[in-house]
Amino acid sequence: LEDIQKTDPEIAGAITDEFNRQNSHIELIASENWVSPAVMSAMGSILTNKYAEGYPGRRYYGGCECVDVVENLARDRAKELFGCEYVNVQPHSGAQANMAVQFAILKPGDTIMGMNLDHGGHLTHGSPVNFSGTYFKVVPYGVNDQGFIDYDEVMRLAMECRPKMIIAGASAYARTIDFKKFREIADACGAVLMVDMAHIAGLVAAGLHPSPIPYADVVTTTTHKTLRGPRGGMILCSQEVADKYNFNKAIFPGIQGGPLMHVIAGKAVCFKEALQPEFKEYQKQIVKNAQALCNGLMNRGVKIVSGGTDNHLMLVDLTNFGLTGKAIEKLLDSANITANKNTIPNDPQKPFVTSGIRLGTPAATSRGLKEDDFDQVAEAIAMLIKEGEPAVEKAKAIVKTLTDKYPLDPMH
Ligand code: PLP
Repeated sequence: LEDIQKTDPEIAGAITDEFNRQNSHIELIASENWVSPAVMSAMGSILTNKYAEGYPGRRYYGGCECVDVVENLARDRAKELFGCEYVNVQPHSGAQANMAVQFAILKPGDTIMGMNLDHGGHLTHGSPVNFSGTYFKVVPYGVNDQGFIDYDEVMRLAMECRPKMIIAGASAYARTIDFKKFREIADACGAVLMVDMAHIAGLVAAGLHPSPIPYADVVTTTTHKTLRGPRGGMILCSQEVADKYNFNKAIFPGIQGGPLMHVIAGKAVCFKEALQPEFKEYQKQIVKNAQALCNGLMNRGVKIVSGGTDNHLMLVDLTNFGLTGKAIEKLLDSANITANKNTIPNDPQKPFVTSGIRLGTPAATSRGLKEDDFDQVAEAIAMLIKEGEPAVEKAKAIVKTLTDKYPLDPMH
């Protein structure tokens, strides 16, 4: 930080404050993580200076021979990690990976099916406030009263509306997604199957969630969630499908200019880390910790949507306590626990208020927390939900014991 301190003390101060916030809080936002020093260094490297429009071997700028090495390594490692023939590592974000795939395959006005945002889907899966919901005609699907994807209903809707594309994948769904069933549905109605595995990519890489690669026509992901890489996106599929829809062209020049080569280097480092045996142990610990947190909450009388979790996250249903997600997010924050309010299926509250809280274990698992620690986190959360404000100091003390036990390395 020394250089920033000299040039720009205000920004240096904000970064230091943010480090102290991260260090003193338990991070339970399911889409966040704590990257390795190697990933961080790649992102802060001189690769940020380079323009490299185009793809390795076919660039619109000179001097790209070194960044070609970087992008080729990132692609090769991602192919090995997920077992696919084609990868595009240039999307600046998950939303841009999804936009490129949808623009490559669909025409404005085409019908798509995606999971309802209120039921756990993502904005880019057809929400009316997103490009996907304004360019395309959207028929959303959701979960049943038990909180599981209702595959029979997805089939019924698909046969009725005959979508051009079905999107599987979610931002707040705690159960294993049956990609084979989605393939059967897509085949029955003649749709293209796109899977957005952003949340579960790390689990897929480690073999702890069934891979969508054998079933989907095309898979998109972010690289910064369970996968523990830099913020960014990626597109994966067979060479045949990549050629048919020309995803390379859809990214550049379709919706992006120059690739972020420092971020692509971070992706390459992340994929190398994910190919090591320790990564699988880390992913196993994420799932064990999610079980411990989930059981810890349920044993203390807190309701979880679908009654459990198969992955790294869970959705707390606050309706039986008459509480809102907005209020509990604030209360958790006052006890140094960071989480986000989230709608639950058939939520009576507005999206900015909600009746739920989404909790995930990837970031705190990177920090070192184990099952016993997560039971303590469950104790702190349950007391805040049940006792409210008066429990803040007790909950904060639990958090402090854990954050002192697992201090973060500043990495800068
Ligand atoms: N897809 C899913 C399933 C997500 O959960 C998210 C982000 O939360 C995205 C895509 C978008 O990723 P980004 O924020 O990088 O645009």
